[in-house]
Parts: sequence; structure tokens; C-alpha cells
Amino acid sequence: MNTPISDTFSQQLREMRQTLLAQLREQRGGKIGRAEAAADAREQQSDDWAQADAERDLSIALEERESAELVAIDDALKRVADGSFGLCVDCGVSIPTARLHANPTSLRCVACQEKLEQASGEAPRAGY
Ligand SMILES: [Zn+2]
Repeated sequence: MNTPISDTFSQQLREMRQTLLAQLREQRGGKIGRAEAAADAREQQSDDWAQADAERDLSIALEERESAELVAIDDALKRVADGSFGLCVDCGVSIPTARLHANPTSLRCVACQEKLEQASGEAPRAGY
């Protein structure tokens, strides 16, 4: 189930998640929104599940793009947990490790991703 390679990506995904959350807090210039106030309140209960809930609440207040990125990271972590990480969701082949290193939230092999982007007409996500 947890092969060494998925452990490596699990670690990378968790770091991405933390970095993204930290960036978002910074972007908001220290303004405390409702979600964050709720997060602070829950942190005082201080256990892991409360923390996870707080981060989920915080994500609701985020911009759509960043939220989508968080969701993608959480999905990838779920896939690590259930053993399907690194397999193309469309054709089931192993996604090349180099591609996963470049973007650990990749769901598809290059061929299927290209097909999808051509079909949907959406611009491919740059920067990863
Ligand atoms: Zn594929």
C-alpha cells in the first residue's frame, strides 16, 4: 500500500499544502476573516481533527483557484492513502515519476491530459 515512492510524494504534498496555506494567509495581509477566526477558536481544542477541520473551513474562504489547488492536493493525498496515487485516472498506466515530481497532483498521464485539454478547450495549467 504505502510504497516508499508514495511516501515521498505524501511528504511533498503535505509541504505544498502547508506552503499554500501560509501564502494565502500572507496574501490576505493578516486580515482575519470569519473562517480564520473560527480556526483560531478550534485550535484551542488542539487535536489533529480539530486542526484539519479548521484548515477545511479556512479553505472555504479562499479564492477559487487556490481552493481548487488545495482540493487537488487533498485528493492526491487521498490517492496516496488508498494506493491509487501515480496511476492515470483515465487509462490506469503509471504516471512517469518525473511528471509527478513536477506536479504531484497530476491525475493523468501526459496523453490523457492532452486529450482532456483538447476536448474541454481549457488552457493547460502553467507553472507546474
Ligand atoms: Zn492515461
